Amino acid sequence: MLRAVRDAVSQSDSAPLRLTKVVNVIAKALKADVCSLYLKQRDGVMALAATHGLRADAVFNTRLAPGEGLVGLAAAATGPVSIQDVQNHPAFAYRPETGEDAYSTFLGAPLLRGGTVGGVLVIQHVTDRVYEDDDLEAVAIVAALMAEVAADPELTAFVANDESAPAARIAGTRISSGLSIGVAAMRDPPLPIQRMIVDDIPAEIQRLDLAVELMLRELDNLLQAPGLEASGEHREILEAFRLAASDDAWIRRIRNGVEQGMTAEVAARRVQTEARVRIRRAPSAYLRERLADLDDLAGRLVRVLASEAESFGVAELPERSIIFAHSMGPAELLELDRSRIVGLVLEEGSLSSHVAVVARALGVPAISGIPGALATVQPGDEIILDADHGQALLRPSSQILSSFQASLAARSARKARYANSTRGPARTRDEQTISIMANAGLLMDVETAFSEGAEGIGLFRTELSFLGQSGLPSIEEQIAHYSEVRKISGDRPIFFRTFDHGGDKTPATLVRSREANPALGWRAIRIALDLPETLQEQLYSLAVASAGEELCVMFPMVAEVAEIREARSILAVALEQAAIDGRAPSHVRVGVAIETPSLVWQGETALRRIDFATIGTNDLLQFTFAADRDGVRMTERYDSLSSPAFSMLRHIVGQARMAGISLSVCGEMASDPLGVIALVGLGVRSLSVVPTSINSIKEVVRNLDAKSAEKLVLELIDSEEHSVRSQFHEYALAEGIPLEP
Ligand code: PEP
Ligand code: MG
Repeated sequence: MLRAVRDAVSQSDSAPLRLTKVVNVIAKALKADVCSLYLKQRDGVMALAATHGLRADAVFNTRLAPGEGLVGLAAAATGPVSIQDVQNHPAFAYRPETGEDAYSTFLGAPLLRGGTVGGVLVIQHVTDRVYEDDDLEAVAIVAALMAEVAADPELTAFVANDESAPAARIAGTRISSGLSIGVAAMRDPPLPIQRMIVDDIPAEIQRLDLAVELMLRELDNLLQAPGLEASGEHREILEAFRLAASDDAWIRRIRNGVEQGMTAEVAARRVQTEARVRIRRAPSAYLRERLADLDDLAGRLVRVLASEAESFGVAELPERSIIFAHSMGPAELLELDRSRIVGLVLEEGSLSSHVAVVARALGVPAISGIPGALATVQPGDEIILDADHGQALLRPSSQILSSFQASLAARSARKARYANSTRGPARTRDEQTISIMANAGLLMDVETAFSEGAEGIGLFRTELSFLGQSGLPSIEEQIAHYSEVRKISGDRPIFFRTFDHGGDKTPATLVRSREANPALGWRAIRIALDLPETLQEQLYSLAVASAGEELCVMFPMVAEVAEIREARSILAVALEQAAIDGRAPSHVRVGVAIETPSLVWQGETALRRIDFATIGTNDLLQFTFAADRDGVRMTERYDSLSSPAFSMLRHIVGQARMAGISLSVCGEMASDPLGVIALVGLGVRSLSVVPTSINSIKEVVRNLDAKSAEKLVLELIDSEEHSVRSQFHEYALAEGIPLEP
């Protein structure tokens, strides 16, 4: 049957004729009274694209809204759905034009490909037939094949039936900033129809084994790639990945598929699809990450197989590709041709996912958190990716396009201008020096920060580089990593923050229980103080990596003075050990990240116990407003440019002055031009910002008058408005302060 299906689809007939032949073949092979193929159109509607058994004039006349009818039920399933007594099923949607009254059974399988559903294959019988496991398996195999067929560009265009697809906008969350214009490219090019069914199964198994070997070798090469030494975090992630690749459970599943007559490519795609379907349902972020790795591996195997089969070279990415994918593994992004990628749109992936970390390090704008994004585009659609505002504009009008082109051109002109003035301190018009440092977590960030002119690393997120591994890094691994950071930084200061684990940033070995509110749960210093030996190991590693130099270390999420005292005593033990080993730092400065309101209300008492503090506005404001910093709805609900935020920050600035300690701000507010005006007005003189914003923030400072910013803040600090952002905006325009990134 599979061979007959292949022959039917690979003929040079028109698309509708080919589809009709396919349904006839399937109906005959499965001895079914009806075989229908529903394909998804761009708006999510399922259109009857071909049928054997239903009335021919229903083709492309019968359309079901997303989720409608038994077809909608099958589309939402992960495998075949079998239903008896169709007419009495609550989901049944009667369509008189089809003549379906005669059929009482229904077996529908989703055409799943890459985790999205492209259509539904339906088998029906007149008699009350109970479908056996064998029937389900056969339909599942044909559906896997038809999913590939349905992705064929010619067919997609035919089914979409919308040459003038309307402009549209999709909105998500920024996971890597930037603005770009390009064309949509799907991550998985469709397989050519000739390469779907095998004639010689043992030969195909051999081909699969060879490809697996080749893929493992490729991964080894990737691990040894020059330049990777300097990027330890990628190595960590890739090594974990290499381990997953040599686990043969997933290869066995692919082999099973080949034994049923599929080519290794189709079988690998099936495993990949399964992984993507499971990613969507996996409750834990950890499991989703692992499944994403499996997805990446299967995709990699498909590419190896494809490039080795002469009939199919991997479709080259078009110039200026904006890649659309459900989710993506870190290695995959690293491997794509960087010179051709200008953006990334993911249905799933958080700000802290590995792929986001890599996208930021590569400077590729990216947005995520857009379920159904893949279904909204066709390869080649024109796209404006405005990651800064968490949106992508699909098939924009020429007017919109030219206005974005203009803003892109202005942006690069500005960048070139800034580049000449990056060096040197940022001084306001009234001669206040504002120190501009950078936030970093990867070695790559550190490099970018300094090439952009950062004066130091105001926040080094130590946990980020190790997120790829399931356990905590060893002392040796930590020393090597921190030493590398120090090496790149030279004598510029680095403020190391101890691990801020918690929620989905917790290594698997540390996960104790599921928490309803992880942001308010067992995280950061709370974990560290409960596992003092872990904190001690980290502090020892930091001390050794800073031997003979000054070490600045701070603790995240401190909520009370007692925690500072406790952390300090663990630090004392770690320093003592480093001294015994003859590898102690020359001097140690201890600080905290001010991220909880409770610490603010312990005021000077708390700050007198430390040497410096940095305000983590991301957490501090989320707790102040009781509004989740990651919730898209919530991030728009309150504004950091508002009375409660100003009052809170002003209070902290005053306390730090009285305690005589240095203070900076390292939350996102410091990377927002209007936020910077407010912070300088509130008396903040040190900022730690996203590395790629250093130039633009320096320009803001250089065009700002600190005294008049202070006047503005004081005028607005008691405002009863939800936000005073517009007043800051007007002020910036009047003062000629550049606001563009
Ligand atoms: C913050 O909370 O503002 C901060 C800088 O820390 P993180 O974003 O790593 O939580
Ligand atoms: Mg924080």
